[in-house]
Amino acid sequence: MAGPQCCTVLVTGANRGIGLELVTRFLKQPNPPKMVFATCRDPEGPKGQELRNMASKHSNLKILPLEATDPASVEAAAKKAEAHLAGCGLNLLINNAGIMPPCSLESITAKDMLDVYNINAVGPMLVTKAFLPLLKKAAHASQQKGMSCGKAAIVNMSTILASIEKTPETYFFMPVVSYRCSKAALNMLTKCQSMGYKDEGILCTAIHPGWVKTELGSDKADITVGESVNGIMKVLGNISEKQHGVLVTWEGNILPW
Ligand code: NDP
Repeated sequence: MAGPQCCTVLVTGANRGIGLELVTRFLKQPNPPKMVFATCRDPEGPKGQELRNMASKHSNLKILPLEATDPASVEAAAKKAEAHLAGCGLNLLINNAGIMPPCSLESITAKDMLDVYNINAVGPMLVTKAFLPLLKKAAHASQQKGMSCGKAAIVNMSTILASIEKTPETYFFMPVVSYRCSKAALNMLTKCQSMGYKDEGILCTAIHPGWVKTELGSDKADITVGESVNGIMKVLGNISEKQHGVLVTWEGNILPW
């Protein structure tokens, strides 16, 4: 199965949807990572059951509690990961957790806008800041030339719905205003990270996973979570400097911001 060769990887929002499938695929790789961190808001509750089942079969899977909007929770998760890693770095951070509540220009409120921004844009900022020392450690320890997910990378799960250039094609089909704005902010965060962490050798990319049949994407979506993650794993295995600071689709095509 194609995919990145990472020693260590962390996926946020990993208890369902695309995040859960990513974790499953990493564990099924012929040469799986030494450690896969799956974060979940409530690992001990019913929503953490699938991850707990997987962890009972895979000793390299570590479940970490993480609420992406709470700095204390994010810091605590980073400390736990650091302890598990015992001196090693983190190769790949996938900021996947996100929400897409329905909202139109007519119904939107200030609270709707800020809540979505908090999860979809502030969350990845907090998580990346907290895990940056571990990403830097992986980048510095790596013998690999250039940039790759196997060396050190931040992948932010974005969407075509945040592309300002593509909005005329997609607006009437999905008028989720707060979501679009929050993910456009995430795109800018990705671009800023790509500038800020370039000299550290950390690859920074935003990915559009397709319109995927999950709770967020609904059962009307175009593709299954399996199809999406097949594509994402292939993309993660191939991206390098060319995809640094860009928005790329699950099929590997670059999208305009
Ligand atoms: P799901 O709704 O299936 O899963 C979302 C995940 O995010 C859950 O694990 C959820 O945890 C977690 N989450 C939500 N809020 C928080 C929070 N505050 N802190 C921590 N975790 C949180 O979504 P998808 O799998 O479909 O989406 C994954 C990513 O892909 C999202 O960023 C989304 O925007 C993006 N995407 C999805 C598309 C699609 O068509 N599905 C299209 C384009 C982009 P919990 O179970 O506790 O709620």
